[in-house]
Amino acid sequence: MSTPSATVVGAGVVGVCTTLWLQRAGFDVTLIDAGPVGEGASFGNAGNISPGAVVPYLIPGIWREAPGWMLNPEGPLAVRPGYFFKALPWLMGAVRSATEEAAWRTSRAMHALHSGTLDAYATLTRGTEAESLIEVSGQLYVSEKPNAAQGSELAQRMRAEAGVKAVVLDWMEIRELEPSLAPIFKSALLLPNNGRCKNPHHLVKSLAGIAERGGAQIRRGKVTGFDFDDGRVRGIVVDGKTEAVSNVIIAAGAASKSLCASLGTRVPLEAERGYHITIEDPGVTPRMPVTNTDAKFACAPMNVGLRLAGTAEFAGLDAEPNWQRTEVLKRQAQRMFPGVKLDKVTRWTGNRPSLPDGLPVLGVSPNYANAYFAFGNSHFGMSAGPVMGKVIAEIVAGRAPSIDVAPFRPARFGT
Ligand SMILES: Cc1cc2nc3c(=O)[nH]c(=O)nc-3n(C[C@H](O)[C@H](O)[C@H](O)COP(=O)(O)OP(=O)(O)OC[C@H]3O[C@@H](n4cnc5c(N)ncnc54)[C@H](O)[C@@H]3O)c2cc1C
Repeated sequence: MSTPSATVVGAGVVGVCTTLWLQRAGFDVTLIDAGPVGEGASFGNAGNISPGAVVPYLIPGIWREAPGWMLNPEGPLAVRPGYFFKALPWLMGAVRSATEEAAWRTSRAMHALHSGTLDAYATLTRGTEAESLIEVSGQLYVSEKPNAAQGSELAQRMRAEAGVKAVVLDWMEIRELEPSLAPIFKSALLLPNNGRCKNPHHLVKSLAGIAERGGAQIRRGKVTGFDFDDGRVRGIVVDGKTEAVSNVIIAAGAASKSLCASLGTRVPLEAERGYHITIEDPGVTPRMPVTNTDAKFACAPMNVGLRLAGTAEFAGLDAEPNWQRTEVLKRQAQRMFPGVKLDKVTRWTGNRPSLPDGLPVLGVSPNYANAYFAFGNSHFGMSAGPVMGKVIAEIVAGRAPSIDVAPFRPARFGT
């Protein structure tokens, strides 16, 4: 019997993990990206690897806070004025997802997708240089308000149901755990079993290296369309030329929407843009990732410096960056870490692939039996990536998926 083959479109964390799991399932894999490996959203995220991420962003109460965030030019949520009406359907969908019932469904699906992340990374990286880039460091969530960092009562119930270990800390305990922080934080939540990636870009490139050494072909090329015959995808159009494929997996992050549309599936995917600054030689470094739950950004110790990452900006996939957002992050760095040195700062922006129900799309295309989708992890792609890859490889190989994929079905928005 000949070796089965598959073509993965998009070399972010989801695409490279998918490639590795497909190889393990016995496939010859070609991984195609329009740019260099790992330079989409996977390049500059905060690197939080969170098996305990079970609290959705879209949760009851968010819409009481969201207008205030949007009206504050330094706030964590922005919709560009010219883009408001384009983003409106997504925003309306998000409003519908912020009920308690929907939030519970999302939470349970997040648990299924995130809880095995560290094990999945361990399987993929064991014995390679990538292994040392991930560690169980714990993550700290801080607030300047008393009794706030642990979130709402609903958030606490979600963590309890999922068995996520969470420790509430007071002012004194925060000082002891993270002396680098300014003494302004009155409450904190420690998630000791969560982890971090020391350099997400380096990790994705290392994973791609493992795949290449295992025989995967990794190529540059922009996929713009497909060739069909008899209910199957026979070819993909790469840089204007059609190439034959046996199976194709769309893992193109925030750019997946138009590719899905070409495959006849409508997904209301939006680019939810974020920004980071990375401070080389900051002078102060927390020992674990610290998320500011008031201003909604993460501070991550990386092997290239201290990274502050956050902002949810709706401006469209190709809009010019608004670098004022990174100036806000610099001010936040000074507020959180007294004495931080800002002499060497680099800045970055990237598009989170986000769907209005807060869950990714994962599964076979409703229209073509050999086309598959794996994208839409919004704020959690570094955590979900290795499990997304494992599950989609199982589906491509015709095996039963190891998690319930019903919540992620591609046709859930209608086709
Ligand atoms: C500021 C910020 C902080 C974040 N922090 C965290 C965090 O701490 N923890 C966490 O879990 N997640 C975090 N995330 C989210 C995470 O980064 C994303 O969910 C994840 O990187 C998405 O990975 P992906 O592989 O789906 O997409 P991407 O990494 O964007 O990769 C998609 C790839 O597809 C390629 N592509 C697109 N179109 C085509 C085409 N037509 N043909 C060929 N190739 C194509 C692109 O070039 C790109 O390389 C953060 C995101 C941001 C922006």
